[in-house]
Amino acid sequence: MAVRTHWTIDHTCGHQVDHDLSDRAADRRAGFARWLEVRDCSDCWKAARASSPDEKQQWLAARRAEEQEAAAEWEQRYAMPPLEGPEKAVGWAVRCRHQLVTAAYTALAVEGELDDADWSEIEEKVRTVTRAGWWIDQRDADGADLPELLEAATDADRPTENPYV
Ligand SMILES: [Zn+2]
Repeated sequence: MAVRTHWTIDHTCGHQVDHDLSDRAADRRAGFARWLEVRDCSDCWKAARASSPDEKQQWLAARRAEEQEAAAEWEQRYAMPPLEGPEKAVGWAVRCRHQLVTAAYTALAVEGELDDADWSEIEEKVRTVTRAGWWIDQRDADGADLPELLEAATDADRPTENPYV
């Protein structure tokens, strides 16, 4: 006897949808089909989510918080100094720095030829640039360009290193 893999579900939104449940364990399919029956079909579910700005905002805020946490962890691990600027800019800049420097590491050291010593040198330069605005300006930059960008940073971008500027 063939094991049943397809269910036609009457969703709560009124749509009838054929579901291929063959990627689920055979003994779980009937239960999953019952679970589907008390829900909107996936199109309606997606549409409801997309049209609710509150949920979208919440989703964005949650993502930002996650990124912020990852950036903070990274900062601590690599002894990155705090950035300087208005509070709102700093939060954003911290995420930009994390993204750009990890992208640079991937491009130059993981996929590229850069050895640890050369990377440490770049990391040292990363630590000197603490002006939040500088990192925000580089938000769309390519990771591979980071060494060049750091060369182009000015004393004003290194306020902690040079307090007399
Ligand atoms: Zn529907």
